Amino acid sequence: MARYVGPICRYCRRESIKLFLKGTRCLTDKCAVERRSYVPGQHGQNKSRRRASEYSRQLREKQKLKRIYGLLERQFVFTFEKAERLKGMTGDNLVSLLERRLDNVTYRLGLATSRKAGRQLVNHGHIMVNGRKVDIPSFLVHQGDVIEVRPRSKENVAIKAAVETVESRGIPPWLEWDHAHLKGGVRALPSKDDAALPVDEQLVVVLYSR
Ligand code: SF4
Repeated sequence: MARYVGPICRYCRRESIKLFLKGTRCLTDKCAVERRSYVPGQHGQNKSRRRASEYSRQLREKQKLKRIYGLLERQFVFTFEKAERLKGMTGDNLVSLLERRLDNVTYRLGLATSRKAGRQLVNHGHIMVNGRKVDIPSFLVHQGDVIEVRPRSKENVAIKAAVETVESRGIPPWLEWDHAHLKGGVRALPSKDDAALPVDEQLVVVLYSR
C-alpha cells in the first residue's frame, strides 16, 4: 500500500484528538483540531452520527496507534506479531516495541519536533547508535545503548532548532540526555505507562485476535 501523502491533520480530526504529527505547529492555534473540531468529510458536521460499534472502537484505537508512530498497515501487523511472540501482555509489548524504534527515540530525545522528522534524520544518516551510523528508522534500541548525533551533523539547523524546543516536552524517564554533547542513552526499556499514549492498546489486541 502506498504511503498517504494528503493532509496529515485529517488523521487527528478523524480521531478527534491531537496526535502531534506536525511538530511545533501542533502547539499553536493553527492546529486543525482546534480550528475544526469535527471529523473530516462531507458528513463530518452531522451531529446525528450513529453510535460506534465495538468493532469500530477497536479499529479507531488501532488507527490512532498506527498513525502516531507513522507506520503502514504491514509494518504495524509485523510489529504486533512480534509483540505476540514476546513474554507478557501483548498490548504492553506492542507499545514498548513502537517506543523503542529509533525514529521515535530521536523524537523523544528532542532531536526532532515530530516522529516523521525523526525518521528523516535517521534516514539521512545523522544518528549514531553505540558509535555506528544507523539509518534504519525501525531499528530497535536496547537498554544501555548510546544514541548521538553524528559529529558532522551537530551543526544541522533542523536539529539545533528542535533541541531548543524540547524543554517544553521533556525527556521521558527511560531515556537520558546530555544537551552539551547532543548525546543520549537508554536507561531502561520503556513500559506502556512511559509512552503515555491516548490509546487503549487492549482494544487493538482484541481487534487482531478476531
Ligand atoms: Fe494534529 Fe498537529 Fe495537525 Fe493539530 S497541527 S491536527 S495536532 S497534526
